[in-house]
Amino acid sequence: MIIVMKPEATTEDARQILDRIEALGLKPLHMPGSERTVLGAIGNERAIASLRLEGHPKIERVTPILAPYQLVSRELHPHDTIVKLGEHSVGGGKFTVIAGPCSVEGLEEFSKTAAVVREAGGHALRGGAFKPRTSPYSFQGLGEQGLQIMQQVGQEVGLPTVTEVLDVSDIELIADHVTAFQVGSRNMQNFRLLRALGQQQKPVLLKRGMAAKIEDLLLAAEYIVTEGNSNVILCERGITTFETATRNTLDLNAIPFIKQRSHLPVLVDPSHGTGRRELVTPMALAAAAAGADGIIVEVHHDPSNALSDGQQSLYPEQFADLMKRLAAVADAVGKELA
Ligand code: PEP
Ligand code: MN
Repeated sequence: MIIVMKPEATTEDARQILDRIEALGLKPLHMPGSERTVLGAIGNERAIASLRLEGHPKIERVTPILAPYQLVSRELHPHDTIVKLGEHSVGGGKFTVIAGPCSVEGLEEFSKTAAVVREAGGHALRGGAFKPRTSPYSFQGLGEQGLQIMQQVGQEVGLPTVTEVLDVSDIELIADHVTAFQVGSRNMQNFRLLRALGQQQKPVLLKRGMAAKIEDLLLAAEYIVTEGNSNVILCERGITTFETATRNTLDLNAIPFIKQRSHLPVLVDPSHGTGRRELVTPMALAAAAAGADGIIVEVHHDPSNALSDGQQSLYPEQFADLMKRLAAVADAVGKELA
């Protein structure tokens, strides 16, 4: 519920209402403005109705938040959220490129790909240390050693780093080594993990589940934000459909749909979204044209020898070419490739 106070309402009036909101077990929000104060009551709709604030002499109007995802909705927060990824800003007119191998495979391998990303103008490095593989017999990632490699190489090339977290028990270890967490498609509705990531302040790149609706993604983001961390970046990475020509069906509809309804930045993963290297560049450009705030893309210095997802990883020269073309598309839609 959004509560707009009358111009003459005092801080004390606002505080009394905030106390009533809190006493009902709801989350009170205080948004003082230059002309009037706006309050928010977030939580269970029935409890909110029982506040009965409509007749209050110091309240101008009370509007329900129509979206089920209350904190991430634009109804409450009309302006774009900008998430800091190291020195780089994600959202708010910038187009961000996070790139790197599917998995961190070793110091030499990661350094080579990181140099490619850096030279071509990428903004952040990706790489999995804990890999959610379909088969238990596939390469599972280097674990802590992979994190150390990411930290060292990230510092050497001067780029922030993003890696996937699979389990609550790994959060502290990962936080010690990288700039941002990634929650993968398979964990989008791991609610304990989402809540735990909400209780710390590092950015969270939240990928859409392969069988999740857009609303499910936004409600998953709500779990993180409601715990106190609003540094959330959403990511469309393709969904499972009856189509078998591509690994997933990249749902570009999701970009403008989410951008219109949520203030959070939205990235696209054209690598997992297509599963085919030759489709990555066209879909990355399409994502930029549709209004995405950036991409997360797999690049490998030697894709044919990659330990995972080589078939969808760009060659170094393809990545450099993509960066140039993205700059042109971003410019055409009023964004800047920083
Ligand atoms: C990844 O980015 O490495 C990954 C596993 O992606 P997703 O969770 O989208 O499958
Ligand atoms: Mn991958």
